[in-house]
Amino acid sequence: MRQRYEELLTEEQKQKALRDSHSKRKPRFCGLTVHFTIGGCPYRCSYCYIYDMGLGTKPSPNPLSPEELTYAILANRYFVSGRYGTLIAIGAISEPFIFPERAISYLQELSMLGNPIQFSTKSYLSSSYANEISRLPAPINPLVTIVTTDLVDILEPYAPSVDKRLETIRNLSSAGLKTCLFLRPIIVGVNYREAKNIMELAYESGAQCVVIGSFRITYSIYLQLKNLGLDLKEVEQRINTKYLRKNPRKQYTIPLTTEEKRKLILLARKIGLTPFKSACCGNSSNANVICPSVCFETGFCTHCQNRCWERKRPELDAVREALRILGITAEIKKIINNKLLVSTWEDNPVIQVLARRLIKH
Ligand code: SF4
Ligand code: SF4
Repeated sequence: MRQRYEELLTEEQKQKALRDSHSKRKPRFCGLTVHFTIGGCPYRCSYCYIYDMGLGTKPSPNPLSPEELTYAILANRYFVSGRYGTLIAIGAISEPFIFPERAISYLQELSMLGNPIQFSTKSYLSSSYANEISRLPAPINPLVTIVTTDLVDILEPYAPSVDKRLETIRNLSSAGLKTCLFLRPIIVGVNYREAKNIMELAYESGAQCVVIGSFRITYSIYLQLKNLGLDLKEVEQRINTKYLRKNPRKQYTIPLTTEEKRKLILLARKIGLTPFKSACCGNSSNANVICPSVCFETGFCTHCQNRCWERKRPELDAVREALRILGITAEIKKIINNKLLVSTWEDNPVIQVLARRLIKH
């Protein structure tokens, strides 16, 4: 695949792509995060952490062309191309459809790799745009974010309206895409109580699944939400605000309790939505591939119809061969509790994934 871009791009374009962070960044558990814009997001949601990461409110399109971006990703030593390769996750640090023409050309180019692609959005996507997305040659899993209907003016005053987002769900679903509601962040004591209503609205609009996610807080988000008059008592019970103040830009997760998660999962099922506790499950399930973050080995599996735990795992020799093909030197030490221990597993996501994928002998 890389050869195509070696021939297509000039030396200058290739050097530009190789300087870009997409050619170096390690994937996260949701996959390799791919950014269609740089500089930030204009929607200024009150709970958003990107502004504490130094990003602003005036985004511009990613300076790489679709071909350069794809080349950068293919040059990333942690990225494995193809349907069973690295998940691609779009929308982590900005709204990806701010520049819709640009966004579709990125999607068109990236989808030629065949990797499962997931995007999260609050934008209005028309039915013709949704149809264009549905014709792409890779599995595409849209996540449409809705976290409140009662507190829109406080939490998301500048983002597209909830009605428009429900219409987006309708358009994407009608185009044949398995569309999930992205119910994140759920802030205890603030919007947790709205979850049922939001899931019902999304279901009525055609959503088939929901990804439930907790809340990442920094000190400035805490102050901002407090200044907006929200009652943060329950949040304060879960985090010592002294830590927040000490390290003001650091992100902390305000977790949901097991019981809270269990209730949301039961509710989602009752409504008719397939619940996921992590975004990678939505993407894997849509692509019908085993979850590469191996959520079925951890507490994140919600036992969806993908049934990863039943799928055939690679044999030890196949793992060895995969490492050899990928040019990764790693010593397979031993197998404990069906997990491979390899010497370099902490600092290499490819190994990490292979090592967690294991093998029942
Ligand atoms: S739309 Fe997303 S990236 Fe933009 S401000 Fe809101 S939460 Fe942040
Ligand atoms: S079966 Fe479990 S691990 Fe696999 S995609 Fe579904 S929820 Fe995730």
